[in-house]
Amino acid sequence: MNKKRDLFLRHVAQTSPEPLGLEIVSASGCKLFDVNGKEYLDFISGVSVSNLGHNNIEINNAVIEQINKHAHLLVYGEFIQSAQVEYAELLCSVLPKELNNVYFVNSGAEAIDGAMKLSKRVTGKPEIISCKNAYHGSTHGPLSIMGSEEYKTAFRPLLPDTRLIEFGNFDDLNFITDRTAAVVIEPVQGEAGVRTAKKEYFKALSSRCKEVGAMLVFDEVQTGFGRTGKLFALEHFDVTPDILVLAKALGGGYPIGAFIANEKIMKTLTYNPVLGHITTFGGHPVSCAAGLAALKIMLREKYFNEVAKKEKMFVSLLSDMPHVKEIRSAGLLMAIEFNSFDISSKVIKALLNNGVISDWFLFAPESLRIAPPLIISEDEIAAGCEKIKKIVNEI
Ligand code: PLP
Repeated sequence: MNKKRDLFLRHVAQTSPEPLGLEIVSASGCKLFDVNGKEYLDFISGVSVSNLGHNNIEINNAVIEQINKHAHLLVYGEFIQSAQVEYAELLCSVLPKELNNVYFVNSGAEAIDGAMKLSKRVTGKPEIISCKNAYHGSTHGPLSIMGSEEYKTAFRPLLPDTRLIEFGNFDDLNFITDRTAAVVIEPVQGEAGVRTAKKEYFKALSSRCKEVGAMLVFDEVQTGFGRTGKLFALEHFDVTPDILVLAKALGGGYPIGAFIANEKIMKTLTYNPVLGHITTFGGHPVSCAAGLAALKIMLREKYFNEVAKKEKMFVSLLSDMPHVKEIRSAGLLMAIEFNSFDISSKVIKALLNNGVISDWFLFAPESLRIAPPLIISEDEIAAGCEKIKKIVNEI
């Protein structure tokens, strides 16, 4: 019996009936190393977090420098903290000019929750609309707008006045009315198994929101920071949301989230009531220092420019496999849909045994998730794909 594994299962709360339970002791670039020295190729980036890979020296140095200055000082928004201010300024400089005010929180779910509150506060309206198969986080607010009843039923009652529409369906835009405070949407649905919609859909959605006075909230928690081949996925659609939600890669490997809007909109959280949104640790200086360093690297090295080429390589190497229904991709966010969950779970387990970390999607368990760090080399892509092909061909 592995004692550490036993303690892990006994004392660390589990919500997965079958946690991987790997003991990773170090990580570097696209590789993870377990306690026995076995090497794993990271094909999921900690679920779209480690876009720059692991153990980046510049991020490490930024963290160390910040730790040597100070960690937490006071609740969010009271003191001027350089890392936070610099990061907010840099983020705003790379976003559409209307998005010029950043509220830092701790996670994606918290940022979505903040965006939901802000939408209600600004519009004075009650209803939040989201999409079927959408995932926006697991706390009560985001859960209330999750696009899967299966995951919601056990936790009802949830927030009232929510409605689901079909992602990409033009007719459903008519459900957005003058009662709607916000439409919360992922520009590319991640947990649905990488589903994209047409540019015209997002244009029509944006017009409909403007027409009825609803906030358009883009959830780029999974698509941000180069994942889809642009720094932000919104650039593919020529649409500027009223509120942009970021997390995951926002922190360069450290916990942070943010909702970003125009200063005029954000100001409504300052009055009636004052302190309309509060967080103790939101925008933690160490996370901001790490995220700031990561964004500087991303802007300097422009890894997002190589994403389309690497995506093509994956798709061409993985085409012509048996048992595959469809391959969907949005940059380095890819889903290999197999004929059944049985096949995808066999592939995922075999990949793990063969030193490749992959996963399925919450609402598309028959699909294999491939979302490696954007820095992945062509040799690593070839090696990982070779293993996938071999395993799938032998099933
Ligand atoms: N939104 C999207 C699109 C996500 O993929 C996730 C997490 O997977 C979240 C929100 C929630 O983020 P967090 O897990 O940091 O709360």
